[in-house]
Amino acid sequence: SEWTPDKGWGQGKLVPYGPITIMPSAQVLNYGQGIFEGMKAQESAKGRVVVFRPDQNAARFKAGAARMSMPTVPEEQFVEAVKSTVAANLDYVPPIGKGSLYLRPLLLGTGPILGLGPAPSYTFTIFAAAVGAYFKGGQLTPIDLIVEERFHRAAPGGMGGTKAAGNYSPVLVTQLEAKKNGFSDVVYLDAKTDTYLEEVSSCNIFVVKGRTIKTPPLQGTILPGVTRRSIVELARSRGYEVREEPVSVHEAMEADELFTTGTAVVVSSVGSMTYRGQRRQYTEPGQAGKVALEMYSNLTDIQTERADDNFGWVVPIN
Ligand code: PMP
Repeated sequence: SEWTPDKGWGQGKLVPYGPITIMPSAQVLNYGQGIFEGMKAQESAKGRVVVFRPDQNAARFKAGAARMSMPTVPEEQFVEAVKSTVAANLDYVPPIGKGSLYLRPLLLGTGPILGLGPAPSYTFTIFAAAVGAYFKGGQLTPIDLIVEERFHRAAPGGMGGTKAAGNYSPVLVTQLEAKKNGFSDVVYLDAKTDTYLEEVSSCNIFVVKGRTIKTPPLQGTILPGVTRRSIVELARSRGYEVREEPVSVHEAMEADELFTTGTAVVVSSVGSMTYRGQRRQYTEPGQAGKVALEMYSNLTDIQTERADDNFGWVVPIN
């Protein structure tokens, strides 16, 4: 769908996957007006295809557009576009348990501009691709994290709370190096004090001690994950005490268990975390943590309709 100042959002249409044509002077290519979302459609135990909490992605997309001085996509229009994209690609949704159809909504300042300013026109589009597990080794293999101390992902007052395209290239340099050194990903610390955990390159982080689960609070520097919020609610419903409050790296090193959450990673157990050369091993090699496993199965049971959707999170497509 295209946005112009006089017409607003036009009628969207379904087109085969292929190139889009924009000018070299497109705002997004020069000044970075671009945000995205990540969602999954999957086959459920009821034999239909469902998406998970699309209203949450719609709300985050809207907030991100406002932060980037872009026209917001009305939430109903966003959800309708998601539904029709999935409906048009039902043949590409993998069988239950074999992966999902990943959906990538984009909002781009595609109109041309020379001096710094907002684009005169915008493109909202969604593409889809069938995917398997995010981390190598499959879903339940624990990941090995390293605490990053040279670079920050976000600063107070910056873009950390927005799914802006530009947030992701700066993490590549650390992520690639971590992978070269045998780690799965990096954990970022807060830019003010270098003391508190923020998040991983593309997922949120949780720290478990006994029956208490903590996750860093939303203060504009971490992405408000849809999975994060869902796990907070799920864990509370399972009798855990869940606190959204700062977690120091030292507290995390002494915790019983760590796990990460995100649309791509779902819930991933953290096998180890390395900080200043010290490696803390949380789980037996190859074995996922207890709470991570419990949260993973609780969440995926709802997402695939093996369990009752008491929260009203699942939206059927067909
Ligand atoms: N943090 C970052 C930086 C991310 O890119 C993502 C993925 N969208 C997340 C956290 C997890 O968010 P969600 O659960 O909505 O996928």
